[in-house]
Amino acid sequence: MNDVEGHGEERREKKNNLAAAVVWCVKYPKEELLMSLLISEIFASIQGESSRAGLPCIFIRLAGCNLKCRWCDTTYAKEGGSEKSINTILEAVGSWKIRLVEITGGEPLYQPECSTLAQQLLQAGYTVLVETNGSQPIAQLPDGVIRIMDIKCPDSGMADHFYSANVEALTEEDEIKFVLASRRDYEYGVAMIRQYRLDQRCRHLFFSPVLRDLPAAQLAEWMLADLPPARLHLQLHTVIWPGVERGV
Ligand code: SF4
Repeated sequence: MNDVEGHGEERREKKNNLAAAVVWCVKYPKEELLMSLLISEIFASIQGESSRAGLPCIFIRLAGCNLKCRWCDTTYAKEGGSEKSINTILEAVGSWKIRLVEITGGEPLYQPECSTLAQQLLQAGYTVLVETNGSQPIAQLPDGVIRIMDIKCPDSGMADHFYSANVEALTEEDEIKFVLASRRDYEYGVAMIRQYRLDQRCRHLFFSPVLRDLPAAQLAEWMLADLPPARLHLQLHTVIWPGVERGV
């Protein structure tokens, strides 16, 4: 290669880098990329819940939560966390080849920047799920995000925190989960589906038992007797990695 060719290469590379930077800046305005969120953990695992159970998925677990469910299995995410910019989060997510991302918690909507993070992930071409506890307005999330909304039942101690206006914001693509610890919770779930016609709003409704309180076989028996428009659902990641609490 002679000098002229060398300079040509260099110029071409600079031009390409400049073009990439322009595309990046248009797609991701700088101030949004610099916004930060409190993150508990980011990891790749098998999706254990929702209609996408079984698929490889990247989880972004945000720290902090406004509720205190009696059977909470992620208490470690309710406090602490480290501050990370959206740019850093996108880089971490981009280190895997997986295109399905779930933002979870804690309660992700407890941090207002969650919507911007979801928007940036959508723009980067990911399928984005947000799992929320149902106490915060889900309408703040951008179109295209699939909301997986818990409706807390009486045994959680948090049933009074349901933000009922969320029902109007649901789309067919969103999913609803009831975590059940007793017959009382089961009847509550059935009644809520009926009251808000949830089966006509969303394609996927789940009844997920707290196994230490409600054996799956017992829940199955009730569902076979009543045929509620919901699917019995077990946390797949707890079967694959029994006893492992973080990073799965
Ligand atoms: S909403 Fe989720 S993170 Fe918060 S206390 Fe309940 S189960 Fe735990």
